Amino acid sequence: RLLGEFKKLKVKGGFKSNAELAQSGDARAAQIPRYVRASLWGMPPSIPLTAANHSAKDEHIPNLLLFPPQTTFHDDPAYKSGKLILQDKASCFPAVVLAPPARKDAVVIDATAAPGNKTTHLSSLMHNMGKVGTNAFCNAHAANEQQLYAFERDRKRFGTLTMMLSRAGCKNVEPVNSDFLTVDPLDPKFVKVTHILLDPSCSGSGIVNRLDYLLETEEEENQEEKEERLNKLASFQLMMIRHAMKFPKVSRIVYSTCSIHATENEHVVRAALVSDEAIAGPFHLATQEDVLPKWHRRGMPEEMAKPEDAAPLIRCSPGEDATNGFFVSCFVRKEGTSSTNK
Ligand code: SAM
Repeated sequence: RLLGEFKKLKVKGGFKSNAELAQSGDARAAQIPRYVRASLWGMPPSIPLTAANHSAKDEHIPNLLLFPPQTTFHDDPAYKSGKLILQDKASCFPAVVLAPPARKDAVVIDATAAPGNKTTHLSSLMHNMGKVGTNAFCNAHAANEQQLYAFERDRKRFGTLTMMLSRAGCKNVEPVNSDFLTVDPLDPKFVKVTHILLDPSCSGSGIVNRLDYLLETEEEENQEEKEERLNKLASFQLMMIRHAMKFPKVSRIVYSTCSIHATENEHVVRAALVSDEAIAGPFHLATQEDVLPKWHRRGMPEEMAKPEDAAPLIRCSPGEDATNGFFVSCFVRKEGTSSTNK
C-alpha cells in the first residue's frame, strides 16, 4: 500500500539553473536531494530502485527514498495526510543509530522532540506497537505496553509535535509538555527506560538554507561573542546528556546536533565521557561498527581527548555529503555499571 503511495508522487516544477540558484543564495540547498520516508512501520522490505519517477533508495537508511532537489511534495495527498515525511537524510541517522527495541515492553525517551521528525521515526522503528484502538494521548502508563515518551518544553512547539504524531498515526508515543531536565529518573514510569534520544537546541550552523544567514550573523559577531554563545549552548547540551545518563536502566543514548562546531559536538562528547569528578564515567562510546559503519565522514580526531574516539562519531558536511551539516554520537553503558543518580 505504501509503495503505491510512493508511486502516486508527482515530480513537479522545473529545475532551476545553477546560476539562478547561486543568485537566489540557496546553491548548497539546491544540491541536497529531497529525502522522503513513510511515516508508518510496514513499508515493504524491497522498494524498486525507481519507486517513482526519478527516485532512488538511500544506501544508508532503510526505507528512505531520494528525489531530485527541486521535487515538490506539498500538494501531494500522501504527504498532506501525514503518510510521507520529508526528512533530511542526516536527520534520520539518530533514530537508526539509537536502534530502539521493537519489543512490546520497550520503554524509550525522545528528550527534545518537537516538531517530531525523529519521534515519528523512532515510533516506526519500534514497529508502532501501541494499544490498538487508542490514540497517543490515552495510551499512557498501560502495563506492558510499548512506550515512547516524547518531551518538549516549549508549549507552541509541543502543539506542532502532537499534530505531527497524530497525522503520522503514532500509537506508541506519549507526548509530554515538560522540561526533560525536571524529569525524575527514578519515577516508576521511567525506571525502565533503556534508550534515550537527545537532539537538543543547538546553533543550527549546519542547516544549509540558513548557512548564508548564519555566516552573515557570525560575521557581525566578534569572536568572543561567538565563543560565549557556543559555550552556553555546550553547557546546556552537556547537562542534558548527564541527566540522560542518570536513568538507572538506560543502556544507549544518542546525542545529535545540526551544528558544525566542535564546541557543540566533539567537545560535549569528550566532557560527557568523564564524570564531574573528572574520572571515567559509566558510559563509553559505541564502536564504529555499531554506528553506521558504512558512513564515510567521522568525528574530528584532533578535537577528542583520545583521537581514536573520533571514529565512532558521525559528521555530515554541508555541501559535501548531499545532506545538511550534522553530528551524531552514541553512548553505551559499560558492562556492570549502574546509575549513581547523583
Ligand atoms: N528532534 C526534533 C526533530 O527531529 O523534529 C528536533 C528537536 S530541536 C533541535 C530541539 C527541541 O528541543 C526544541 O523544540 C526545543 O524547544 C526542545 N528543548 C530544548 N530544551 C529542552 C528541554 N530541556 N526539555 C524538553 N525540550 C527541550
